[in-house]
Amino acid sequence: MANATLTTPWQGQNYLDGRWHPVKGEYLENMNPARFEEVLGLYPRGTPLDADLAVTAARRAFPGWRRTSRIKRGELFFRLAELVRRDTDELAAVLARESGKILNEARAEVVEGLHMIEYVFGTARQPTGDVVDSEIGAKDLYVRRKPRGVVAVITPWNFPFAVPLWMLGPSLLEGNTTVFKPSEETPEIGQRLMKLFEEAGFPAGTINLLHGLGEEVGEALVRHDDVDVVCFTGSYQVGSHIRRLAAESDHKTCACEMGSKSAVIVCEDARLDLAASAAILSAFKTTGQRCVSAGRVLVHRRVLDEFSQRLVEQARRLVFADPFTPGAFAGPLVNQSAVNKVLFYNDLARQEGAKILLEGGRMTDGEQAGGYFVSPFVYQQEYGPEKRTIREEVFGPHLAIVPFADDDEAIRIYNDTPYGLSMAVITEDYRRWRLYRDECDYGMGYVNLPCIGAEVHLPFGGVKRSGNGQPSAAGLVDSVTHKISFTVNHDTQITMAQGMSADVEKQT
Ligand code: NAD
Repeated sequence: MANATLTTPWQGQNYLDGRWHPVKGEYLENMNPARFEEVLGLYPRGTPLDADLAVTAARRAFPGWRRTSRIKRGELFFRLAELVRRDTDELAAVLARESGKILNEARAEVVEGLHMIEYVFGTARQPTGDVVDSEIGAKDLYVRRKPRGVVAVITPWNFPFAVPLWMLGPSLLEGNTTVFKPSEETPEIGQRLMKLFEEAGFPAGTINLLHGLGEEVGEALVRHDDVDVVCFTGSYQVGSHIRRLAAESDHKTCACEMGSKSAVIVCEDARLDLAASAAILSAFKTTGQRCVSAGRVLVHRRVLDEFSQRLVEQARRLVFADPFTPGAFAGPLVNQSAVNKVLFYNDLARQEGAKILLEGGRMTDGEQAGGYFVSPFVYQQEYGPEKRTIREEVFGPHLAIVPFADDDEAIRIYNDTPYGLSMAVITEDYRRWRLYRDECDYGMGYVNLPCIGAEVHLPFGGVKRSGNGQPSAAGLVDSVTHKISFTVNHDTQITMAQGMSADVEKQT
């Protein structure tokens, strides 16, 4: 935080009511997680007053936007897709620099955002309701969706391009207006996205960008009376706080996607080559900082030793390096508190009696010493309901291998966390994967795959502490619209349903 002069390459501004606002007052620094000393840019530390300006602009724009044809709203997304395609490489480089994701993954995220935009454009000409028969022949019943109003979109640093689009896309297409608050860790990619929305021609006020701290502007948005829906993706701690705040207003709803303790389950009949690759990708891609990252691999005792050996050999060889290093597998953690958290859980695993299979921790040599680099930590841990390391989200390269004796035990262990986001089962047996599909608590399930890798045209959500039943991406439409029923009588007299009398004239 600083009152600094803007000599750095990137310079953030809020975008309110169709205008960029030069910042007066305090700034937030955007740091490069791969190089401690590098300030990438300076961004406004928005205030509750800015939040109010953003919501007021969105409220003002709502009636005009709601009345615009849904197909015309959709066509703006076609233009937006063209712009994202034009700028893909540049967007990927920005994303890699400020989030620490390796370039290939950063690019994949931009492509995922592009897919969401294309999906939104494609759905614009799809039906938005149903025509339903009435028990009275002369009546037609319609079910239609209406926008809810002003949607606040509050997003995490780890998917700073795709996740905002999962939520902004359906919200805007359905006729809502929006205020977008990107994470303070990754403000630049939010800024770039906003510029593309502007260039695509979205009218003033329909989308507003507000930089700042979560507990300041984020909370001001959640508390604002004129916000109708809060779409939040981030940690359980913040999400549960937001749910409580939103519940204080009668009209406000919220869709919260939160953390996890996802897992890969390796059955006794699994192909172990495939199982090891699935576990490595699930646990260590994005340095373990995906909401769906596997903090646990549950392994049948019969294949435990062979599987563990394969996994550890592969984990030892993974390259964690600057995002622009060719061939890097993953980059740094996002900041010092993320490092502290991972090191805390590594120590806790030792205290909880883990058998350490691969020592991991702060990387202190070479270029890694200058960033938040942490190497994989892998251990074997017997299941126990009191063991925190196999139940709590760590959000880093920290992996427990937990042995099990049969399918029932694996399912019990899998479900014994407060979370339920993603699950992958590795098996050649079609009866077995069906059992896991039906008995485990999760929102996204996979067979013979990692537990990461969703696609935008699926709903993305979790159960328990992972989500409040309002999935994102293709599933978000249900959170940002309400369904109305509408009944039309084509007769010249009134006939009521359920046989109720409608003979008013005889009532003298
Ligand atoms: P975070 O909860 O710290 O922050 C998320 C957003 O909330 C940020 O924009 C932040 O500024 C804002 N915020 C913070 N305090 C707030 C408050 N009091 N009121 C309103 N807004 C506030 O999360 P993060 O560190 O950015 O992201 C990592 C977390 O997100 C992990 O737990 C991960 O599992 C989760 N995540 C979940 C999904 C999913 O779809 N389930 C996807 C990505 C990340």
